[in-house]
Amino acid sequence: MTHSAAEAFMLEEHAHQLLHELRQAQTGWGRRPVADRVAMLREAGQAILSRAEELAKIVCEETHKPLVESYASEILGVADLFAYWCDHGPKLLEPRKGLVPMLDMPGKKARVERLPRGVVALISPWNYPVAIPMRTIVPALLAGNAVALKPSEHTPRSGAWLVARLREVLGPVVGLMEGAGDAGAALVKAGPDMVVFTGSTRTGRKVAVACAEQGIPCECELGGKDCAVVLRDADIDRAAAGICWGVLTNAGQNCAGIERIAVHADIAPRFTRALVWSLEQAARDVPRLVTAAQRDLVARHVQDALDHGARLLTGGIPDDPDAPIPPTLLADVPRDRPAWVEESFGPIAVLEVCDTDQALIAAANDTRFALGASVWGAHEDHAERVGEQLRSGMVWINNHSFTGALPDLPWTGTGASGTGVTNSPEALHHMTRPRLVVVDSATATEPWWYPYGDAMLDLMRAAVRRQAEGGLGNTLKTLVALRKRAQELNQR
Ligand code: NAD
Repeated sequence: MTHSAAEAFMLEEHAHQLLHELRQAQTGWGRRPVADRVAMLREAGQAILSRAEELAKIVCEETHKPLVESYASEILGVADLFAYWCDHGPKLLEPRKGLVPMLDMPGKKARVERLPRGVVALISPWNYPVAIPMRTIVPALLAGNAVALKPSEHTPRSGAWLVARLREVLGPVVGLMEGAGDAGAALVKAGPDMVVFTGSTRTGRKVAVACAEQGIPCECELGGKDCAVVLRDADIDRAAAGICWGVLTNAGQNCAGIERIAVHADIAPRFTRALVWSLEQAARDVPRLVTAAQRDLVARHVQDALDHGARLLTGGIPDDPDAPIPPTLLADVPRDRPAWVEESFGPIAVLEVCDTDQALIAAANDTRFALGASVWGAHEDHAERVGEQLRSGMVWINNHSFTGALPDLPWTGTGASGTGVTNSPEALHHMTRPRLVVVDSATATEPWWYPYGDAMLDLMRAAVRRQAEGGLGNTLKTLVALRKRAQELNQR
């Protein structure tokens, strides 16, 4: 066996062992009353939050985020997650009553229960190493699943810290799969009951194929290339400040970061001045990117755009590869260049000036990605009408992307951004499977049971007519046909 084959074998063995342990733990956890799980999850939330400073510092060390951003975009959201799911989750998990027609099928009661899927494999990226895994871990556990977390190889300590805290309170219903992409692939290959993947479109497609081959349900949250559409009546200063934040938050390493801006020609000069000013003011709060590979990709996008006639409105790529990339705004980027087409995932954006609303909408929709989009305008009705025409999973009017930490609101995309959903009751729905339970208290033989006869055909015809035409007469005819069918069955 070669060295790499031996490593792959070891990873697969480890993944199998991990899933085996989690399956055993899940059996008891999934059977606990939901109130018990809620109580233990509240305690686990406290265990994490009581050591928030420790976690925030690990996040800063791994991602170079300012401490304030560690708190604002990672830790604060964790508190909200535990509170939301513990308060609202039990109600969302209650069985629902299923409708069974009383006339045709008397004596039957149906309910639809939500059961845990089993072991959820959670594969996470490095850009929000706490907020992203936690927004799946909490509802998955609440629903009675066990979770195997595969954190990014670039932020392993944040993931390991979270799993350690959760295990201290909850025991082995949470497990850790450490390593790079091959560890993620081994985890999927080992056959979990569900995969929740957040990461790039390229990797997400590989994961989706591996899941499809095994029939494993898979939720993929992938890349983005969000556009901010600035209408001619926008509040220029507020739009510039908000879009500046949307471009630069997390140094642009945000799946719903604003990477394209389409602005109405009538306000383009004033808006551009205000945006450039905002970007330059924010420069000191923008750290260097998490990985050198990401920095090189951003540099390539900027250089390529400049080589193809784009204008640099502010920023640019510094010669020193260790220096942070300053906020960078490009204009006149041809629409077939990577800075327009591909996800850049850095503190850069391209600006396009358009003469009409239709041109603004067309520019925003000119992408294979469709995660978020925003429309900035003074008249909400008008802005909403423009927003309705944008092909994205999320549309914000006069704001952008801040909802990622709000547990009741779905975070979702379509197209190359993946169709996964995290946060919200919709996400909980995916982490459970429906189970139908029907109880029949009728004592009579069912009219559709064997043997068939002429009265059975008459009954079916009468029932269809009643459905198609309605009316008391057709209902009475159905009842008569039902009686004849009962007599037919009794005669045999
Ligand atoms: P990535 O695709 O490189 O890696 C994501 C995770 O997948 C990592 O843990 C990695 O180790 C693992 N992985 C790699 N190859 C694998 C394989 N073959 N099988 C299983 N797992 C594998 O992404 P990244 O660079 O870590 O994160 C940045 C990307 O994530 C960006 O594209 C960003 O837009 C996206 N993202 C999306 C959302 C969203 O909600 N839509 C949120 C955050 C980040």
